[in-house]
Amino acid sequence: MKNFFESFTQLIFPNLCICCKGYLSSQEKYVCDLCNYNLSLFELNELINNNLRAKFWGLLPLYDCLAYLIFKKDNEVQKIMHEIKYNGNKELCYEMGLVLGKFISSHRNTIDVDFIIPVPLHKNRENQRGFNQAEILANGVSRIIRVPVLTDGIRRSVDNKSQTSKNRFERNKNTDKIFSLPNSAVLEGKHVLLLDDVITTGATILSCGQILLTVKNLRLSVAALAVTN
Ligand SMILES: [Zn+2]
Repeated sequence: MKNFFESFTQLIFPNLCICCKGYLSSQEKYVCDLCNYNLSLFELNELINNNLRAKFWGLLPLYDCLAYLIFKKDNEVQKIMHEIKYNGNKELCYEMGLVLGKFISSHRNTIDVDFIIPVPLHKNRENQRGFNQAEILANGVSRIIRVPVLTDGIRRSVDNKSQTSKNRFERNKNTDKIFSLPNSAVLEGKHVLLLDDVITTGATILSCGQILLTVKNLRLSVAALAVTN
């Protein structure tokens, strides 16, 4: 019965691929198979010493550092992120979390993390959008790699508006005091996977990572759905 209703609504409101705007088959969800196949992948061949890790060299000692996709102006990945952030497509965000989780488990079977901590949004921003995309992604990843998400692992106490006009050093200084660790005791001696949707300058990951590394014997890994190149 459910299938009948699904096919019926699809006849009236056909689902379109958010990347190419082509019709989706009943097996496809949000992104068609062809667009999925053509997503720009991030350096699959250089998993360990990739240039994402290089962003943090000398600044953040990382156990592992990975990203699945490349975010470029007008590419399919940008369209996916736009749909998530500006059209509030929470289901697509969760689907991408599952995809990232599968990527992590197939390429990183040695990653033995205890918690996934999503990069927090300030509550005001989260209320505006209705959700924190890093947290929804984390829920998808968690479902696949079977590691719990610590949603309040890091708290953002200042709603810093745009940081794009500042240089890397100023940005770093600016983000220094905006994060806090409300649950630092549970993190002692643990391996934490810090997760964000897109890494651009790396300033936010750097600030969150630096504060996490103040916890005794914490090991840190970083993952993102996408990275700008
Ligand atoms: Zn498509």
